[in-house]
Amino acid sequence: MAVPLMQAVRVGSYVVKQHLQGRKKYPLVLMLEPLLRCNLACSGCGKIDYPAEILNQRLSVQECLDADAECGAPVVAVAGGEPLLHKDMPKIIQGLIARKRYVYLCTNGLLLEKKIDDYKPSPFFSWDIHLDGDQLMHDASVCQDGVYDRAVTAIKLAKSKGFRVSINCTLFDGADPHRVASFFDEVMALGVDGIMTAPGYAYERAPDQEHFLNRQKTKQLFRDVFRLGKGHKWRFTQSPLFLNFLAGNEQYHCTPWGKPLKTVFGWQRPCYLLGEGYASTYQELMDDTQWDLYGTGNYAKCADCMVHSGYESTAVKDAIQRPWHIAQVALMGPKTEGPMAPEIDLSKQRPAEYAYNEQVQGLMQKIKTEAPSASKRTTTIRRVKTVKKEEAKENS
Ligand code: SF4
Repeated sequence: MAVPLMQAVRVGSYVVKQHLQGRKKYPLVLMLEPLLRCNLACSGCGKIDYPAEILNQRLSVQECLDADAECGAPVVAVAGGEPLLHKDMPKIIQGLIARKRYVYLCTNGLLLEKKIDDYKPSPFFSWDIHLDGDQLMHDASVCQDGVYDRAVTAIKLAKSKGFRVSINCTLFDGADPHRVASFFDEVMALGVDGIMTAPGYAYERAPDQEHFLNRQKTKQLFRDVFRLGKGHKWRFTQSPLFLNFLAGNEQYHCTPWGKPLKTVFGWQRPCYLLGEGYASTYQELMDDTQWDLYGTGNYAKCADCMVHSGYESTAVKDAIQRPWHIAQVALMGPKTEGPMAPEIDLSKQRPAEYAYNEQVQGLMQKIKTEAPSASKRTTTIRRVKTVKKEEAKENS
């Protein structure tokens, strides 16, 4: 199983409990971004286009644990930026595991060999290595040669030390279904425990705006890949119904609150992908966000989104409401022939709004206001220089 039985049971009971309690909005996965700095600059990434002052911000161990306590989701995905650049990452992970959260540490793998002994295998912990396809596909996606090989070395090392390892594979326009299928075979042969896959979200700040998939292409690509994978025993960490949605067989609406994001800006509205504003507490995020303004059909920036951040929770809710349906899809696999589910009408969606500059200015102002007094400044500058030197050394 891509997800251990105990994890499936605990998360399943959590979901059932929320439904029995009549809770309409509940979190499934806390997305935690303790820093936005990365040691790569991928063409499809919309997370790292910020001034150095913002990239130097870190959520402290306590802020991460407080976010976890506020949210209460059973699963935590720690992403970024590159989380292994955060010097306190082992403490953050230990703290979350101590609370019996199922933690996925998302990394590009470049620093894994150096840092792996700071972590211990646990049924509550999994490495989640970024791999967007085979060597050519992945190195092109991360804009650097040799990264695929290092990620594969990292996977082998982590497996040899007894860790659970999954891969996180984002697909873009132009992906060849045959190559994707062969790649899934390859990673299964490496012994990974599970594959998490999704189409890339069209981040407005991503350097490459030409290779994001629209919904029609996404569905056709996943249908083709799943057809080639029949009988191959790929293990996905995602719900069978989410995979069925990717293959165009479900007309799901987005559940943006299912995977709330805490980042250095605060709690991001409305979802992991879209930063349209920030709340200072989880409760404020849940209470004050105008959720109906978002989702496919409601907002232009959501038009082509089919990412797990918004739709995995919808699939999980569907599984509770139609257990026979998930059983059927789990048994037979996603349907890869015949008509697709009707598409959501986009004619009434509101146009895109752009808030990036305002948000950056707001955070820069906050950083300035909270800057240390002149007497402490020299020490801080020295500390920042040391951090930069350490990061440069680690990236070399
Ligand atoms: S559809 Fe949902 S998950 Fe996707 S960008 Fe819009 S709000 Fe976020």
